[in-house]
Amino acid sequence: MLWNCIRTVRLLRRALATSRWPPERLRAWQWRQLCRRLDHAYSNVPLYRKLYDECGFHPRDVRGLEDLGRVPVLRKERLRATAPADRVARGVRLASCRPISTSGSTGTPLQIFLDEADQCWQRATAWRILFEHGYRLTDRTVEIRATLGQRFFVQSLGVARKDWLSLRDPPAAWVAHLERTRAQVVVACATTLAALAEAASAGGARPRPRLAFSDSEPLTPPLRKSIQQGLGCDPIDVFGLVELSNFAWQCEQRQGFHVSADSHLVEIDPERATLIVTDLGMTGMPIVRYDTGDTAEIESEPCPCGRTLPRLRAIHGRAIESVVLASGQRLFWPFFHEVLGAFAEIRQWRVLALPGHTPRVQLAAASTIVPHVRRTLAAAAPELSDWEIETLPEIPWRPGEKLRLVVTGP
Ligand SMILES: [Zn+2]
Repeated sequence: MLWNCIRTVRLLRRALATSRWPPERLRAWQWRQLCRRLDHAYSNVPLYRKLYDECGFHPRDVRGLEDLGRVPVLRKERLRATAPADRVARGVRLASCRPISTSGSTGTPLQIFLDEADQCWQRATAWRILFEHGYRLTDRTVEIRATLGQRFFVQSLGVARKDWLSLRDPPAAWVAHLERTRAQVVVACATTLAALAEAASAGGARPRPRLAFSDSEPLTPPLRKSIQQGLGCDPIDVFGLVELSNFAWQCEQRQGFHVSADSHLVEIDPERATLIVTDLGMTGMPIVRYDTGDTAEIESEPCPCGRTLPRLRAIHGRAIESVVLASGQRLFWPFFHEVLGAFAEIRQWRVLALPGHTPRVQLAAASTIVPHVRRTLAAAAPELSDWEIETLPEIPWRPGEKLRLVVTGP
């Protein structure tokens, strides 16, 4: 227990220092960590030994970060198809690991097994983002989830106190808890934060957390606005995956996402535009060149905040959750937001592009708007002129459910 605390604090201190390291120092650090991960994965994890041997690859083929592209990519299907015992390093006992499942909302759930060291590591990488925003160990955090997380002994002593609230509770109960405890930090999915903010506004309550962290879903401009109004703070968008912890986050400038480059090596697949991530710290279940299936764009301009960490201009989410036109152009939700967001009369929207069906734009708006929307869509991309447009009193989704603005499958 004590050792885990010391280890977490040490990891945190180093991580925070790296945010302003010169880029060459950061690259040298990444190179050293990558070499260790590659050797370890190849020597001790059956999944990687088999994958690399099949591809005729050996870790010595990589002589520098510029050779990273030679390392075979680990795809989600491959990870899922590998027996749990072959995903973890030799010597790691599955029975003593903490299993975590990805939500599985867009496919078959995937189980991740974290030994104690990896749990510490994931905790430190997630915490680092909070500290970048001025989190204090005396702060009280409220996290709202479907599954409640762990409680730690030190929290009962008043250090990094955390209350887990259930998604199943009514939003008014979350508001009451925040008001009663005066929690300074709140963490939840974007739509959950918005539901919390709306309940606060509707009830005339004024919970005033200092920091609100939004994850798991796109934090769209309308959701951000509603959170700002109801909670009185500008939410911080954070990106991560269960298998990789949180590794990309907005700074106080809210311009793109900084990558925690000391803990995660991030690349963009040149053909598919998907994010490929190497975790530089996990040892029990190493994750090396893992194709996340999420698409993103790199930002080359330095951030005005002064941090030297690399930045992603945008993270579009799952590659499959986009509409590909006959011309090959790929449309993500920001495209539709730009086009449809211009109409003040549209309260909500969603695009259904299911295989074998004409794509349909659903609008929570009066039907009189349809001809205007049709003209605007056609002007934005001629191929959209024959799409169906449907108006509804409300787009059916519940707070806490994965927000899918572009739906291309079950
Ligand atoms: Zn910044």
